[in-house]
Amino acid sequence: MSTPDWNWYATRELLSILTREGLRCPLCDVVTQDIEFCDGGDFSTFLCGQCGGNFAPAQYYAAQRRPPKTGLSTLYRPVGSRELAKIAATGYRQFPPRLEWQPIFYPVLNFDYAAHIAREWNSKDPNHDFVGFVTRFQINNSFLCNYEIQTVGDQQSVEYWIPAEELASFNVNIQGPIEVITEFRNGQLV
Ligand SMILES: [Zn+2]
Repeated sequence: MSTPDWNWYATRELLSILTREGLRCPLCDVVTQDIEFCDGGDFSTFLCGQCGGNFAPAQYYAAQRRPPKTGLSTLYRPVGSRELAKIAATGYRQFPPRLEWQPIFYPVLNFDYAAHIAREWNSKDPNHDFVGFVTRFQINNSFLCNYEIQTVGDQQSVEYWIPAEELASFNVNIQGPIEVITEFRNGQLV
């Protein structure tokens, strides 16, 4: 739960972002400086000149944890040899269904994090034949914006948590092929 103190700091922080680079309105998704500050002390809000909507700092920060609502996002996924074989079998169009004991599908937001997993886990694991790949693909934001970005550990380790039963919808929203961009064997770049 946000405390009034936190809200005060959040408001100040938003004001500095607004003057510096404009704000992305959480209601209409437009980045604009046409935003009015409605000073209500601990309960201050912002009025968006683009859509006429009113939003609180907490709404802004919640929206920051999601992609925009339009366009495409580039995502990465580290995979082992078996998962890659299943991807290849779909013509590099889809990720295979999760196994019984895998309730969540984890695509990640940046190459470095994907490469770290492929190198340190997949390529050092006998169950993955000591090989790890980084795949890259694009997906519709109109679908992805239903999910919050999850930070795991440090700020660079960011991923989405897609429930296994929603992976089929995820696959439908992939645009273009799933590319294999990097390969590691025994912890080494190939
Ligand atoms: Zn707006």
